[in-house]
Amino acid sequence: MVAYRSGTGSICQQLVEAAQESFSFAQRHIGSKPEEIQQMLDELGLATLDALIDQTVPQAIRLNRPLQLEPAQSEYAALAKLKEIASKNQVFRSFIGMGYHDCITPPVIQRNILENPGWYTAYTPYQPEISQGRLEALLNFQTAIIDLTGLEIANASLLDEATAAAEAMAMSYGVCKHKANTFFVSQDCHPQTIAVVQTRATPLGIKIIIGDHQTFTFNDTIFGALLQYPASDGKIYDYRHFVEQAHAVGALVTVAADILSLCLLTPPGEFGADIAVGSTQRFGVPLGYGGPHAAYLATKEQYKRQIPGRIVGVSKDVHGKPALRLALQTREQHIRREKATSNICTAQVLLAVMASMYAVYHGPQGLQNIAQRVHQLTVLLAEGLKHLGYTIASEHYFDTLRIDLEPEQVTEIIEAALAQQINLRTISESAIAISLDETTTEADLYDLWQVFAGSEVSFALEELATPEFALEKIKPFIRSSNYLTHPVFNSYHAETEMLRYIYRLQAKDLSLTTSMIPLGSCTMKLNATTEMLPISWQEFGKIHPFAPLSQTRGYQILFAQLEQALAEITGFAGISLQPNAGAQGEYAGLLVIRQYHASRGETHRHVCLIPESAHGTNPASAVMAGMKVVAIACDKQGNIDLDDLQAKAEKYSHELAALMVTYPSTHGVFEEQIKDICAIVHAHDGQVYMDGANMNAQVGICRPGDYGADVCHLNLHKTFCIPHGGGGPGMGPIGVATHLVPFLPGHPVVEISGEQSVGAIAAAPWGSASILPISWMYITLMGAAGLTQATKVAILNANYIAHRLAPYYPVLYRGKSGLVAHECILDLRSLKKSAGIEVDDIAKRLMDYGFHAPTVSWPVAGTMMVEPTESESKAELDRFCEAMIQIRQEIAEIEVGKVDRQDNVLKNAPHTADALISSDWQHPYSREQAAYPTSWTREYKFWTTVGRIDNAYGDRNFVCSCLPMEAYSE
Ligand SMILES: *Cc1c(COP(=O)(O)O)cnc(C)c1O
Repeated sequence: MVAYRSGTGSICQQLVEAAQESFSFAQRHIGSKPEEIQQMLDELGLATLDALIDQTVPQAIRLNRPLQLEPAQSEYAALAKLKEIASKNQVFRSFIGMGYHDCITPPVIQRNILENPGWYTAYTPYQPEISQGRLEALLNFQTAIIDLTGLEIANASLLDEATAAAEAMAMSYGVCKHKANTFFVSQDCHPQTIAVVQTRATPLGIKIIIGDHQTFTFNDTIFGALLQYPASDGKIYDYRHFVEQAHAVGALVTVAADILSLCLLTPPGEFGADIAVGSTQRFGVPLGYGGPHAAYLATKEQYKRQIPGRIVGVSKDVHGKPALRLALQTREQHIRREKATSNICTAQVLLAVMASMYAVYHGPQGLQNIAQRVHQLTVLLAEGLKHLGYTIASEHYFDTLRIDLEPEQVTEIIEAALAQQINLRTISESAIAISLDETTTEADLYDLWQVFAGSEVSFALEELATPEFALEKIKPFIRSSNYLTHPVFNSYHAETEMLRYIYRLQAKDLSLTTSMIPLGSCTMKLNATTEMLPISWQEFGKIHPFAPLSQTRGYQILFAQLEQALAEITGFAGISLQPNAGAQGEYAGLLVIRQYHASRGETHRHVCLIPESAHGTNPASAVMAGMKVVAIACDKQGNIDLDDLQAKAEKYSHELAALMVTYPSTHGVFEEQIKDICAIVHAHDGQVYMDGANMNAQVGICRPGDYGADVCHLNLHKTFCIPHGGGGPGMGPIGVATHLVPFLPGHPVVEISGEQSVGAIAAAPWGSASILPISWMYITLMGAAGLTQATKVAILNANYIAHRLAPYYPVLYRGKSGLVAHECILDLRSLKKSAGIEVDDIAKRLMDYGFHAPTVSWPVAGTMMVEPTESESKAELDRFCEAMIQIRQEIAEIEVGKVDRQDNVLKNAPHTADALISSDWQHPYSREQAAYPTSWTREYKFWTTVGRIDNAYGDRNFVCSCLPMEAYSE
């Protein structure tokens, strides 16, 4: 299928190019072959893809030139190129600690979860009947967190420890009944945690006091406090008295606790903490130069309505069988829009799954052994250092020692360590800290002693061991309560059992390995294996986020190249890679805008205009950035109502901070007026924030920076191929125009920005650095032409689906020439009246056909938003359309009264094998019709393991930890 061009060089050159083209990755990434693309165009009555784009994307905003990117590379060449970059990272042994510890990912988890598309390509479990596997893994995560922290409820992950601490602050603020506005932060917290909490506090009008918890006295202006356990420098404090004092004034206490230490130490819940937060990184998740890792947040049951993030809860299905789903779903904070107290959406599901599996794999005894071993090596290390004449600053510690020294000694020792490829932490100019971890060996102890001794050390370990050695250093804090007693943590310690458990859960989940997941706004495209391979490389995985920059040159090259490409793709001057999800990008971008106004002496600009159709995270982020949300109406076509925008911009002219706008709109249309929209906002000195979740419709065709946006976030886990991981990880970098560059996020530990920075918005300087290679690979493999072609085909595929389904389901919004952008909204509202069928019935019936439902009831209630992406082949699009068409026929039979309005294939969907083989099949339709509605379902059937889930039951009987086994045997 290579057309020989004329006039582009010699025949030989043409042959080489042709050969290269047939190896082109773009052809693997894009699902349909050129002839199938032509067939779809023919169906639409269009001659070429360019004709389609001309009619879809307004001429005024087109980028009429190719993107300036490096030429596309083959998969083999791109991997080699990346390997070369990776080799510029130096993998030292890091004893830096600060919430990040090297650990061992059990290979059975690495290969079968981290590297397994059955797990990493799944979507957020909003369709719980086809998500029972990861929901169970997340319930295990919550159970492990509840047990280890000694609290009552836990969520299914947050982004990192620092943002979890900030969420806890906001939650405490919301819970507090009286008018207190001050939050105490112990100076012994990790510096990045303090920084993020400070960033988050300012726009909310919260005052932060950083101080010594031992001398702090409470008063009634304090609504909450944050402590670190053990402290950042390793010391373990008894916080009971502090907690009592806090409670006496009605303040909530949050304890940021090290998850491994809790296997030995009294958990925060037992000494009175109201909230516990922390990272679960060291439960088998690689350091990855900062992430992604799952943070946790646990609290008391009484705060279940205030807890941020998603919670997995137990409910039951129509057959009365226990079944899991996201609990209190309508309570997901960002759905409350401007009333939200958190904007978190994408979290860290895959990493929470890994951490929970680490707990399942090791069990309580295994974890305790690991914790004990780390602790005992730390005691040995301390004894050896004492032997060498050093003093250990802390009496009680778990895995981290602080050694006070003379300043010259600090420099000497740090340098001696570096010479041995060892990183230690410089706490101050006169103190060093050393943190040990699961990977530490006795040989490491000798290396460390040698660094401190300045020469070979010869004493034997036995010489150091004192009789009461075992748990002396944590004696007053020893945990007496049990944990992880549930059978799930005590059954799968043999690798065969573990492997089968992982696969059993995986089989319950529908991921991209089964069929397309046509989720509007979520862009579930191919996550190519080549793009994923580098995730496992040690050069990316085994690096501490605070390792000296001289050791991370490879990462710096990767960041620079990725930033450059993203800047070219968006038309912006500067990029920040810190935000680790889309909503974090929104927040960071709005802070940048806020700071920009402040720098011009315009702190009164605090109004954020947001169209009614916006994603819930937009208003939630605006509120968190201290802005007042003013809604803008949409017209009948779903476009921003220009008159309303004009009126509101005038009304709030003096206070206007920003407009948040999604483009193409959340209604799946390229608004013709986007340039005017931006101009109106600029005329009133406001800034335009663009939600870039729909960037997949723009790459190579038009650029936000060109047509008027000042800031834009990109969801790398949508447009740029980072897999969704079942609800995370993600990355939400922002691009900004020149005038905003000075305000981009900074970091307290690693210097990455200037004085005017908005501060840190995530724990690690480059967010979830270790998944950035995925997006780098995608861009490198596709090149400018491939990326642009992908955009065109994404738009084609959406239009093809809209065209095929329009006779059966009205397409709610279309652009000027009757075409949609990269997604389309199907209006199902009339079916309620004609057949009693709701959008959910169709979503569940699709499961019987082996499909994941499109986005349901967003942005318009009673509709489905379909986004096929460029990666799905015409064959798959046709299969999906046929399923939808056949479902429409099933509905028609209800409409004409041929089929009962209640007892039908839609209302009873999804059909489980259990229900079908039951001897008392009472339904008026056949089992075949229920389970095998099409020929392909006979060939390959995806079975849902539970029937339709009763959400309300689970919310009335709220349970968010593993059920006792008896519950399953009934
Ligand atoms: C996905 C999405 C977001 C939020 O992104 P997260 O990565 O989930 O935080 C915001 N806006 C729109 C339109 C989206 O589709």
